[in-house]
Amino acid sequence: MMSSTTETIPTYDAIVIGAGFAGIYLVHKLRDELGLHVKAFERGAGVGGTWYWNRYPGARCDFESDYYSYSFNDEIQQEWDWTERYAPQPEILRYANYVADKLDVRRDIELNTTVERAVWDEASHTWTVSCDTGVTARARYLISGTGILSVPSTPKFEGMDTFKGKIYHTGDWPHEGVDFTGLRVGVIGTGSSAIQSIPLIAEEAAQLTVFQRTATFTVPAANRPVTENERRATKRSYAQLRAQARRSQTGVLIEQPLGPYGEVDERIVRGELERRWRGSGFGTTSVLSDNLRSIEANNYTSQFVRDKIHEIVDDPEVAKLLEPHDYPIGTKRLALDTNYYATYNRENVKLVSVRKTPIERFSQSGIVVGDTEYEFDAIVLATGFDAATGALDRIRFEGVDGRTLTDAWAEGAKSYLGLGVAGFPNFFTVTGPGCPAILTNVIASIEHHVEWIADYIEHMRAEGITRTEVTAEAQEAWVAHVAELAAMTLYPTAASWYMGANIPGKPRVFLAYLGGLHNYRDRCDKIAEDGYPGFVHASDGAPLASEQVAVGA
Ligand code: NAP
Repeated sequence: MMSSTTETIPTYDAIVIGAGFAGIYLVHKLRDELGLHVKAFERGAGVGGTWYWNRYPGARCDFESDYYSYSFNDEIQQEWDWTERYAPQPEILRYANYVADKLDVRRDIELNTTVERAVWDEASHTWTVSCDTGVTARARYLISGTGILSVPSTPKFEGMDTFKGKIYHTGDWPHEGVDFTGLRVGVIGTGSSAIQSIPLIAEEAAQLTVFQRTATFTVPAANRPVTENERRATKRSYAQLRAQARRSQTGVLIEQPLGPYGEVDERIVRGELERRWRGSGFGTTSVLSDNLRSIEANNYTSQFVRDKIHEIVDDPEVAKLLEPHDYPIGTKRLALDTNYYATYNRENVKLVSVRKTPIERFSQSGIVVGDTEYEFDAIVLATGFDAATGALDRIRFEGVDGRTLTDAWAEGAKSYLGLGVAGFPNFFTVTGPGCPAILTNVIASIEHHVEWIADYIEHMRAEGITRTEVTAEAQEAWVAHVAELAAMTLYPTAASWYMGANIPGKPRVFLAYLGGLHNYRDRCDKIAEDGYPGFVHASDGAPLASEQVAVGA
């Protein structure tokens, strides 16, 4: 058991785990606006989180950059110029670094430092955190900004270590880049990361073979450069855009549906789908308002995309293989692409379905499926992430009575609002399981959580509260509400990472609140206004030096 009274341990008001978009904002908010003594620990050698690790060819955001960016500081949004509708990864990483410099947060972030353990101390109402570097630190508040998609999932294929070529994972890409020129390359997976990288790898490689287990729905990104005029117009209207985004379902403005299936003239629906296919991104699949609730509506939209695949792909057999049939469109994350389906018209690209005959093993020279051995110089695993809970599971959080978070979540992640967990006092999770973040422009969700947590901490300090804990009743009620909303939709019918279904043995729980960011924000605001029902407070922890000032002030 770690000692809570060891005064040699550096003590902070708040410890932040991670220096991605959540961590950068947390350090600024808590330090510069609340005046707290803050320390952040980050596993990577730089800031940026997801955009630090995911450097695969074609990586870019798929919410427009005008929205997929911080809104809390007007100087930042006026100074920064996005060059494309959907910025590429290097530009987003430059942006994260620019913000970190502008806000001068680097001096409070310890890079190359992985938090391994965090132990709650009931006597002092503090957490003691220990890291792989031997660093130990203590704080009143512990806040995770560890990301939803930050732990790559690597299936354990037999013989992987015998393969003589190189193996890469899209979620942990070499910083120096990879030159595939003239190589025989295999890609496993056809999710968003694969769909972005396949067209670019195909342009370099001598041969590219894609192993597809589940065909994925993807719609054109219609990415393009931003003109100077557009940039100026956006900057002039940022205040309004951001306000609208905060009041929206997904933290981004998406074109409105025409109405439910069967209630709008079919020719109009078809025409609108055609129009949106040419440039609406996610809006393409929201022509029908009941697309995610009615299987008839969904079939209509799904078939529209399947027809498009046949229009684009020359070989009808390949087009057939690319047709998604295993889930209703939108119930697994929709991908946005640039030339994905057309890439299968290239002479050097081959699609292998591993639906019925799975990958059997890796060999020294490649991948074996049934009786066939495919030979490669390099293999790319685009096999996804242990989403939402993966990064938290890898840290040993020991809460009340030493109970670990992994134990508390053994039958599925449980959280109140995706912000706090019963049994883990003074611990806040930015974009934790059970909030809407997964289904939103995540930066909008991050900003909301950081601001809500900061307000709560300010309240606690003003009231002399040293301990807050989610009640088991509030948590159960929230978990039930999240599940109830999911059950009213088609989402649970898909074996998606939203359900934890991509990780063998992971409990199946729908990990997102489906009520929309706007309603969720209202709910969280009301909870704050009402004095934080669902949390219990105590004030008998010895005050930290900075708290004596805060309460006395
Ligand atoms: P993913 O969507 O989970 O896709 C993983 C792929 O690997 C799936 O096609 C999966 O097939 C396949 N796979 C896994 N294990 C396999 C095995 N043993 N054999 C054969 N195939 C296997 O992962 P991702 O593409 O990295 O995307 C994850 C999420 O990250 C996205 O949904 C999105 O939210 C986010 N993302 C966003 C962007 C962006 O904003 N632009 C870009 C990339 C990723 P099954 O479907 O059959 O399991």
